Amino acid sequence: MRTRTPERRAGEPVAAVVPDLDPDEEPFAAAEDLDALLAHLIQKHRELNWLSEWRVKVLWKAEGGMSRGKVTLGRCTMVTGLLKHFADCDWLIWLAADHCLELEMTDHQVEALLYHELLHCRLSGRDGDRPGIRGHDAELFFGEVNRYGLWDEGLSDLAKVMARAEEMEK
Ligand SMILES: [Zn+2]
Repeated sequence: MRTRTPERRAGEPVAAVVPDLDPDEEPFAAAEDLDALLAHLIQKHRELNWLSEWRVKVLWKAEGGMSRGKVTLGRCTMVTGLLKHFADCDWLIWLAADHCLELEMTDHQVEALLYHELLHCRLSGRDGDRPGIRGHDAELFFGEVNRYGLWDEGLSDLAKVMARAEEMEK
């Protein structure tokens, strides 16, 4: 495995170094620093704390590929059936090492990407006790907003979140 675990002292930010993987040799790779980032996020963010009672695994994927004309940076899948037997977890997340390297993603961006994938985890089923997958809060084309503005509630919510995010940048 061509990953190096950065030396870290208590209180320092947790960061995962993106590995340069050979897809033929290592299509997927686990990494200690990525595991540490996962554990850190579940503990750090209140909305993710519940995941500490469940089993989430995260891997680097050598090639993220494309989906519907867009690069796929990561994916979160709930694990069922035969896969569950082998994967031994409730959700499996992968992050695309090739795209993260091409885009020269910062530690902050890799952390945000993993956080995004973790937000896909939810509980479903009649008793709300079975792993499920949550869809995105907003789906849009810039074109529709250009032509029709904030025409539905989801878009107005998105505009409010974006305004707050702009404040964070300042
Ligand atoms: Zn997503």
